[in-house]
Amino acid sequence: GQPGRKLGVALVGLGYYSKNLLAPALQQTQHCRLAGIVTGTPAKAEEWKQKYNISQANVYDYKTFDRIIDNKDIDVVYVVLPNNMHREFVVRAAQAGKHVICEKPMAITVADCQAMIDACKKANRQLAIGYRLHYEPFTQEVMRLGQQKVFGPVKFIESSDGFRSGDPNQWRLKKAMAGGGPLMDVGIYAVQGARYVTGEEPISVTAQFSPKTDPQKFKEVEETMFWQFRFPSGAVSNSTTSYASGVERLYASCQDGWFELSPAFGYGPLKGRTSKGPIEKPVVNHQAAHMDGVCKDLIDGKKLPDHITGEEGLRDVRLLQAIYRAAETGRTIDL
Ligand code: NDP
Repeated sequence: GQPGRKLGVALVGLGYYSKNLLAPALQQTQHCRLAGIVTGTPAKAEEWKQKYNISQANVYDYKTFDRIIDNKDIDVVYVVLPNNMHREFVVRAAQAGKHVICEKPMAITVADCQAMIDACKKANRQLAIGYRLHYEPFTQEVMRLGQQKVFGPVKFIESSDGFRSGDPNQWRLKKAMAGGGPLMDVGIYAVQGARYVTGEEPISVTAQFSPKTDPQKFKEVEETMFWQFRFPSGAVSNSTTSYASGVERLYASCQDGWFELSPAFGYGPLKGRTSKGPIEKPVVNHQAAHMDGVCKDLIDGKKLPDHITGEEGLRDVRLLQAIYRAAETGRTIDL
């Protein structure tokens, strides 16, 4: 790459996350900039062009998107669409010769994830998942405390993420679009938390659905659920995810002490403490740190770190599917 050049990022899908988090973060990034948009809503295109000084040549809709292959201003396509659309747009972006960032969950099936990985490999482009917390200092600290056994071996983990969901008509409550309920949306953070604190892959899972308190709203997806992982070291984790009520915490009980983050998964500032005192780390913009981290590696021609790639996205989707299977069957699922 050319030194000092910022990579041009095109956001695909100008919904909540693009508008409120990614676009503002792209005003602070060192290694990338907001260069293009892909939207199905013409009014948004007009608003964004003015607000962010984007030229008409860098504006696409879902039909014209493939022409991005000819656009030298765009190096990276960032897919921020409903979960079931991730596969199609990641594959099309790769076929257009662009590096891709795709939001979590990577897709709604393991087969979709594999197709996305294959398409990027075939196009010789890199694929990153929107795992912003891997670039977040409080999170990096609990990874260190757990993986380096600073308080001795991790014995058990409580890792939970849920919130009270509003709009009953949103795509997040439609199984075909979301792939599931809160597990797909925020439970994935609890899965990540247990994995990055232990630095291990779970070997088995058990899971339970809670009874629905609003069966009308949660006709297609779970409202609240729980699951338990066993890890090779003997560590175990217990997790809750929910659209009925809030929880956001990652707690690790270790042989010689404990540590926790709460809040642990939101946009920050995160907060943490250990049995020895508070965790003190700089507060960063998660989205800017993530996009800068990815784009710096792309500029330097480096392979992206394994824990933010498509392979990692696939590992999580496979686990999410196993959690559902465990809850549906009532059995322990070996992984
Ligand atoms: P929104 O519903 O707010 O936005 C999705 C956008 O996708 C829409 O605004 C629309 O943009 C476009 N879209 C195209 N087709 C459809 C369709 N059929 N139904 C609905 N929208 C459509 O979702 P979010 O921004 O909250 O989430 C998008 C993705 O980002 C999800 O995968 C989610 O999991 C992920 N996310 C990640 C977060 C993180 O912290 N990493 C936080 C929040 C979300 P347009 O009008 O421009 O076409």
